[in-house]
Amino acid sequence: MSQGSIGFVSLGCAKATVDSERILTELRAEGYEFSDQYDQADVVVVNTCGFIESAVEESLAVIEEAVGTNGQVIVTGCLGARSDMLMKKFPSLLAVTGPHDKDAVLTAIHEVVPPIHAPLYHLLPPGGIKLTPRHYAYLKISEGCNHKCSFCIIPSMRGRLASRSPRDIVEEAASLREAGVRELLVVSQDTSAYGIDLKGDADLLLGKALRPNIVQLSEALAELDMWVRLHYVYPYRSVDRLVELMSDGLILPYLDVPFQHSSPKVLRQMKRPASGEDNLERVESWRALCPDIAIRSTFIVGFPGETDEDFQHLLEFLQNAKLDRVGCFSYSPVEGAIANNLANPVDPDLAEERREALMATQALISSERLQLRIGTTCAAVIDEVTSAEIIARSYAESPDVDGVIRINPSLGVKAGDQVSIKITDSDEYDLFGELTTESEQI
Ligand code: SF4
Repeated sequence: MSQGSIGFVSLGCAKATVDSERILTELRAEGYEFSDQYDQADVVVVNTCGFIESAVEESLAVIEEAVGTNGQVIVTGCLGARSDMLMKKFPSLLAVTGPHDKDAVLTAIHEVVPPIHAPLYHLLPPGGIKLTPRHYAYLKISEGCNHKCSFCIIPSMRGRLASRSPRDIVEEAASLREAGVRELLVVSQDTSAYGIDLKGDADLLLGKALRPNIVQLSEALAELDMWVRLHYVYPYRSVDRLVELMSDGLILPYLDVPFQHSSPKVLRQMKRPASGEDNLERVESWRALCPDIAIRSTFIVGFPGETDEDFQHLLEFLQNAKLDRVGCFSYSPVEGAIANNLANPVDPDLAEERREALMATQALISSERLQLRIGTTCAAVIDEVTSAEIIARSYAESPDVDGVIRINPSLGVKAGDQVSIKITDSDEYDLFGELTTESEQI
């Protein structure tokens, strides 16, 4: 007998996606069904994002729609940390919980649609319920953050760094592999800091001591014979050791480093981790260690106090660093962030102009970087097959945030297949290629 039907909306970043997957997995184990129509669900859960103003607005719009269409709504996630504001705006909400509070969400659901079964974990797919395609999955290695970036309220919403044990993470990764996953996207708020809160306590895994640090964890994940891709790594000196693992072919030569700016003054005002590092020197040293490394980063322009000189510093940094992939936001104040009190706010129109100028500069750089790959052959995974084209990715493209490799339709390939692609062309963001005969042997 079905338990009741849950409508679930998952908004926000990869870390929020993992939270959603955990709640959905538990609900499925309890026998609940899922509905993709608000009006057919017994209750709707909205997992919100509260990182920047546009994300807050999107979350509020979804809550409003769910309340208007269904009426039985539970809100969780980062915006849930602002429960007073939410309850004032939507007094009929059944419950509001903060991020990664799976138990509170389940309790609230049980009150509307009580569970009648003992958990049916045996009915779950190995690895639990995933919101990503079957061949890749996000693997969250810690919650929270010990930093105090002045534009960010995540530490106040998600708390201080709390790392999962190495055993727990490796066991989840092994279970994902059993479920068909072939690419792990390692996420957290600060991946380089993984384990510093665990005081070096080792887990014994297959007779080996596995210490809680990102290098040993990466080595252990690499042994599972999957692509391991690291996101949200800060440019500390210790990252060199990770780049050596990339150079040795153990993990993907891909580094997502959110630099956010280059001007030392702005970085200090932002209170960024590793802001004392010379980031250009770091990028050059990583490329010296691993020439094929693909580096992705994100930047904020229009931060309070950012002058024309600071912005020029950033453009020059981009021209010298020649990063492979770049995302950019114009600064927008987030309620509760320390940066809101900083002097000399930048006019939002000027911030937007700077964002467009940065993206135009980076488009040329990205285009040049991609042209270097024309004529090369790479291992790739197929993400999607349509009648018009096949979408694939290599080590240098992470799903959803980077470009893709587009190839002509071909019989006999399907999502999740690992293939070999010869790159034949490129534009500002994407590559174009064709399957090689070696694809049949991969
Ligand atoms: S590192 Fe900074 S931006 Fe990232 S979660 Fe921590 S405080 Fe926020």
